[in-house]
Amino acid sequence: SRTRCSVLIVGAGISGITAAKMLAENGVEDVVILEAADRIGGRIRKEEFGGLTVELGAGWIAGVGGKQMNPIWELARRSDLRTCYSDYSTARYNIYDNTGKIFPSGVAAESYNKAVESAIAKLRNQDSDNSVDDETATGGANINLCGFREKEFLVADERGYEHLLYKMAETFLFTSQGKILDTRLKLNKVVRELQHSRNGVLVKTEDGCIYEAQYVILSASIGVLQSNLISFSPPLPRWKTEAISNIDIMVYTKIFLKFPHKFWPCGPDKEFFIYAHQRRGYYTFWQHMENAYPGSNILVVTLTNRESKRIEAQSDEETMREAMEVLRNMFGHDIPDAIDILVPRWWNNRFQRGSYSNYPIYVNPQIVDDIKAPVGRIFFTGEHTSEKFNGYVHGGYLSGIDTSKALLEEMKAEKERKTESHKSF
Ligand code: FAD
Repeated sequence: SRTRCSVLIVGAGISGITAAKMLAENGVEDVVILEAADRIGGRIRKEEFGGLTVELGAGWIAGVGGKQMNPIWELARRSDLRTCYSDYSTARYNIYDNTGKIFPSGVAAESYNKAVESAIAKLRNQDSDNSVDDETATGGANINLCGFREKEFLVADERGYEHLLYKMAETFLFTSQGKILDTRLKLNKVVRELQHSRNGVLVKTEDGCIYEAQYVILSASIGVLQSNLISFSPPLPRWKTEAISNIDIMVYTKIFLKFPHKFWPCGPDKEFFIYAHQRRGYYTFWQHMENAYPGSNILVVTLTNRESKRIEAQSDEETMREAMEVLRNMFGHDIPDAIDILVPRWWNNRFQRGSYSNYPIYVNPQIVDDIKAPVGRIFFTGEHTSEKFNGYVHGGYLSGIDTSKALLEEMKAEKERKTESHKSF
């Protein structure tokens, strides 16, 4: 049997849910959302660990308090999301060498500036070597991103960052007791093929279901678009595939370690610390969770790109052993072993294939246009289509709005074309 709908949305992350909500608000309710995973949220994803809710994906609401308000901050306020002010640039004052000595802040700032800037810039989705912002010169604490002043808030809510998505979904999907029961949202539906023509799009899923839609909004990540998960027939035009292959993917991994008790310094400005090792990116960037959750006894270490891929390929026991060795170099041999570890694998997740897109600082404007331009009846959305805020939750959100607006216009234009041709009979 075939399901028919006006708009089929592939993916129920922030961009897909936002697009669906916009369509519903504009009278397009005949929508089906197909999500490959068994849950909504995509790269906004919580998990229970060590007695807490931890965020495997997005963790911060970035750029709060600038000239232009981050719309996610507004949503967070409205849905009462618990957040903590969190300033990772203070990490520069807590740099340990591999004998456990802390560099006096002045000296560290000098000799390790580059390593520190690079670690911090990675967290900010920027390559430090390319960051030319004037505020970097004054210490890098307040890099200005297109009018959003850099002030970060860590989401620390038992309901998870994804609570925002549920609040949004609730406004247009049928829910009961906090669960989405609307049949227009279909989980565990992996889209494998899009057959598109002038008349519509035929969508095939891995479990053999077929959907017929007037239009498709595709929110799969840049990593998924670069993989062969979804085939297009006819194939995507060259300008599109080139734009897709021109955008880099960042792999960013937060490893969580639970301890029987804490052995690291706490207090203001001690939330973040850096391990300065000759090997670049080797368990460099650490955070304790005591500010957000006192008594949690959890440390988070962030790895990126090559290191992320390396640890994804090895066992969690091996990763724990490496992390413990680094911690013992910093804090001495008496510290207790971790009692639990959580290692997300974004790179090997076939519905993600990486953490977020990483635009070059000077990106060719043609690529930006091409990455979001529709191909016939297939409209593209997702953080990677946001020129200004790619790599962020608000990028995903704003792209969902932009894409649905573009689609609504196209639907209106199509309707007008049809009435015109009708009149001419
Ligand atoms: P997604 O959330 O990936 O949604 C796309 C959906 O499509 C997914 O649910 C996926 O399962 C589904 N899908 C894919 N393929 C198919 C298919 N074939 N069929 C059906 N469904 C499919 N941003 C911040 O603002 N602050 C942060 O602190 C931050 N930290 C991050 C840390 C990590 C580790 C990661 C991974 C991301 C982080 N981000 C952060 C980025 C942020 O999470 C993303 O930019 C945003 O969530 C992307 O939303 P999206 O809707 O574009 O994509």
